Amino acid sequence: MTAPNLTPPQAPITQDVLTIPRKLPEGGKANLVGLTRDQLRDALIAAGTPERQAKMRVGQIWQWIYHWGVRDFAAMTNLAKEYRALLAEHFVIEVPEVVTRQVSADGTRKYLLRIAGGHEVEAVYIPEETRGTLCISSQVGCTLTCSFCHTGTQKLVRNLTAAEIVGQVMVARDDLGEWPVPGAPKDETRLVSNVVLMGMGEPLYNFDNVRDAMKVVMDGEGISLSRRRITLSTSGIVPEIAKTAEEIGCLLAISFHATTDEVRDRLVPVNKKWNIATLLDTLRDYPRLSNSERITFEYVMLKDVNDSDADAKRLVKLIAGIPAKINLIPFNEWPGAPYQRSDWDRIEAFADIVYKAGYASPIRTPRGEDIMAACGQLKSATERARKSRAEIAAEAGL
Ligand code: SAH
Ligand code: SF4
Repeated sequence: MTAPNLTPPQAPITQDVLTIPRKLPEGGKANLVGLTRDQLRDALIAAGTPERQAKMRVGQIWQWIYHWGVRDFAAMTNLAKEYRALLAEHFVIEVPEVVTRQVSADGTRKYLLRIAGGHEVEAVYIPEETRGTLCISSQVGCTLTCSFCHTGTQKLVRNLTAAEIVGQVMVARDDLGEWPVPGAPKDETRLVSNVVLMGMGEPLYNFDNVRDAMKVVMDGEGISLSRRRITLSTSGIVPEIAKTAEEIGCLLAISFHATTDEVRDRLVPVNKKWNIATLLDTLRDYPRLSNSERITFEYVMLKDVNDSDADAKRLVKLIAGIPAKINLIPFNEWPGAPYQRSDWDRIEAFADIVYKAGYASPIRTPRGEDIMAACGQLKSATERARKSRAEIAAEAGL
């Protein structure tokens, strides 16, 4: 158990930097998916594309991969045959392999995906009346140990590459049949209209790959999702927040979950490193830096832990002055979870206080519960490396 904290907070959390070498797929061919335009240009030149043609080739190949969803160089009909053969000799267009796909009674789809090294991650597609949200992962497991989160019980195995992050969006579009059909009338309805980085892992501990992947997803000549349709959720990695505004510019969600440091230390242990006051200070600058509107404060409703009227009142006081929306998440239970979901009338009473203080306070409807696809329930079934219960309790100061 942790001793009383008398010294300035030291980092109890370490960020295991597990950067794997960019692995070449079988046959030594490099994967073009996930490369930024500059990286793609360099790769094409290294493979023998004349420099003066490189920009045009990048544009053409980019469109084939990200607009048309083509995986085979032979189908890139506006490129000369010999050039297509050259590409096929050096490169592949590879996305994660779908191991299983589960479809919930409510239409939510959960994909278990296999990536290099035999690791597995999950992505979830949530269809709604006016939009379809794809929830993607940024790491296999997570270094952080939020005590209410199932992913937090799985040790971090590694960061996902940009290819594996973009690949999740491509896999979902494959499954939904969303790539445009040449010659067919243009269909403006997007099935994957929004992307949220709310799956497995802490996206801001894999900043560069997440940034590069989102740049690909946002690029107007490909998948073309606007930065306002992408939401990055973080447990509060303060030094990376301003960078997120400047280098990605997407919407931000913060896993807030508590209104005192004492409780947040237990729920989101990274709070011992960057406490509530430090986090809020940083957040005040986000809307201006990213030129976006509101920050979403995510708040998981845990029975008798963080759900009192006093909590609701403290919450609105704390965030005063920050353009915000408060997303109340009824706790999604998982086998062996040490918490319970707050009662429904408690959640509504909490929402009411927040709403009367002038904040939108939607209660997130749990989706895909029958297939364990809801927020915080993602954990690859086959990853054996588990944190022990004692480890979790110690890190959470329980
Ligand atoms: N690591 C990032 C993003 C992934 S978690 C983060 O923590 O923000 C996405 C959201 O689900 C976070 O707000 C997280 O706190 C919340 N969450 C985790 N476990 C949950 C559970 N069992 N029930 C409800 N929400 C949960
Ligand atoms: Fe990691 Fe987010 Fe889960 Fe915390 S809530 S353990 S940061 S995935």
